[in-house]
Amino acid sequence: MSEHKEHLQALLEDMGRSGPESLHSEHKDWLVCNSCGQVQYVVALEPEHEMLCFNCGAQLSESKSRWFEAVIALTFAALALFLISVFFPILTLEIGAQSQSITIFDGFWALLERNNFILAALIFVTLLLFPLCEIAALLYLLLPYYFNRRLWGQATVLRWFNQIQSWSMLEVFLLSMVVASIKMADMAHLELEFGAYALFLLVAMLILANIKLNRMMFWAWINSNNYFTAKVGEPVLDCTSCNAMVGKSIVEEQNVCPRCGSEVHERLPRSLEKTAALTLAAAILYIPANMLPIMTYSTLGDVSTDTIFSGVVALIANGLYGIAAVIFIASIAVPILKLVILCYLLAAVKWKVRIGVRHRAWLYKLTEIIGRWSMVDVFVVTIFVALVQFGFVYTVEAEGAIIAFGAVVVITMIAAESFDPRLLWDARNQHLRKKDSGETTNR
Ligand SMILES: [Zn+2]
Ligand SMILES: [Zn+2]
Repeated sequence: MSEHKEHLQALLEDMGRSGPESLHSEHKDWLVCNSCGQVQYVVALEPEHEMLCFNCGAQLSESKSRWFEAVIALTFAALALFLISVFFPILTLEIGAQSQSITIFDGFWALLERNNFILAALIFVTLLLFPLCEIAALLYLLLPYYFNRRLWGQATVLRWFNQIQSWSMLEVFLLSMVVASIKMADMAHLELEFGAYALFLLVAMLILANIKLNRMMFWAWINSNNYFTAKVGEPVLDCTSCNAMVGKSIVEEQNVCPRCGSEVHERLPRSLEKTAALTLAAAILYIPANMLPIMTYSTLGDVSTDTIFSGVVALIANGLYGIAAVIFIASIAVPILKLVILCYLLAAVKWKVRIGVRHRAWLYKLTEIIGRWSMVDVFVVTIFVALVQFGFVYTVEAEGAIIAFGAVVVITMIAAESFDPRLLWDARNQHLRKKDSGETTNR
């Protein structure tokens, strides 16, 4: 591996002799790992193989799709299913002779009617707007690719597609539906409707389409050049959005990647400060999120409230251990775990800890993956508010903690996104470089 590095270095130095001082772009079989910043060679792969970073083991390419037509068909089906699951009922609740059906849109509407604008906005963005954008973006990329037609703004669409993905949360909502129906099972009859099955299929199709979508292939199709310099031999920075290598002078002049248009930084500016501030804000909000009531139930004039924790206790008392575990993990354990991990990562970067980098890189990946699943409780409350409206007989209302809790989830997600994982490797790489140069001078 070090041979490769030396060879790359030699190539870079070779080019530094003389040449024109204008923008120069070309294709190179090199790739910079987004997770650790390591430059490496890329080789052509068999369709079933995937490429991993030799330094940190992060995935560098998705496997090439053999079922390209199938993915297009899946995406069209997803669009139809999305419309069905938004406008057709997903759940029906029956209490005595009364029954109430809801669509996803009703959940959003119920919150709007209660002037709960923050929560309504969160539902709108995560369950309606971003999933629709995701499907539209897939179609805007896949269809033209199939007919080999480049359309306006495809680079921007692909860039945004990658950014909104963690905020499109239909699969989390699906889990919330399961939780809500089991929670309600003892007091009323709850039926899954047509829309729920459509939603289930939609989530499956989006997951499949995402697995089959090869982003690197798209970037190469949009612009096969991945190496941009203005001065020959100048050092290059990696674009974390499209993996292109961009000369430092270009970055200093216009600060955007010539291929995808996203900002390029050696390391995200003020990443530590931003992540630390957001982590602190989330930690503070975690207190009201757990102390304040999250839901109020009123049955025939009897009013009772639940906090997140008392809700879990009630579930255990009712013998619903599985659901109690889901809510405990998603709402109490995961947010705490994320805050602890973020503090640990920040401290390790701040004090330049060199050992255990691989393990911390893995922890960072984990926080990115698990963060969104904490939204389960927010969606469960939304389902309850929209579904359980039987006037005097039985109603459920959302309380203050849900906003605090939603804010904790959103802020920890942004905190994880503003953390630059390449920082984790810097102290170690610097040390290795020092050791290398020390050895050569000793020789
Ligand atoms: Zn790597
Ligand atoms: Zn780029």
